[in-house]
Amino acid sequence: MCRDAVATADAVGGAVLDVIEPVAMSADALDNVMARLDAAGPVSELPRPAKPSRDAVFPEPLRRIIGGDVDSIRWRTIGAGVKQKRLDIGGNGVSARLLWIAGGTGVLEHGHQGEELTLVLAGGFKDGAEAFVRGDVEFADGSIKHSPVADPGEPCICLAVTSAPLKFDGLLGRLAQRIVDI
Ligand code: ZN
Repeated sequence: MCRDAVATADAVGGAVLDVIEPVAMSADALDNVMARLDAAGPVSELPRPAKPSRDAVFPEPLRRIIGGDVDSIRWRTIGAGVKQKRLDIGGNGVSARLLWIAGGTGVLEHGHQGEELTLVLAGGFKDGAEAFVRGDVEFADGSIKHSPVADPGEPCICLAVTSAPLKFDGLLGRLAQRIVDI
């Protein structure tokens, strides 16, 4: 319905342009246009047309940041069956990463020095008695220690945002943290 309205507006606009007589432009017309464009703000702040997203794994804002969907990610292996892609967003100690966890694989047990939000984008995982699937968000903080396990079958892909580095107790985890910057 919205698209129809836009199409109608375009058609009307086009028809109006067709019948308007050309007029001589004033000398400062270009300056006026540029001033109006400046007042409208940067192009990136203007509303974007919705793109079809039915088959996409990532939601539109994420696709915009990455410049594509899941198939355009260059993953970095950080452990057996676990890959990550750090995203260049955040700041102030907040970091965001995409995690790819093979079906049936567990993430090393870890605690948190800050808060951790994990949004499931594909597949699912279990954390103790709790189950998370696409669209679910898990919250964890300093009071929680866990080792989520991806459901068997398809890989689990998550967007994880942390306000401070994770805390690993085991030697393996601490080594991994130093080497792969998780
Ligand atoms: Zn965690």
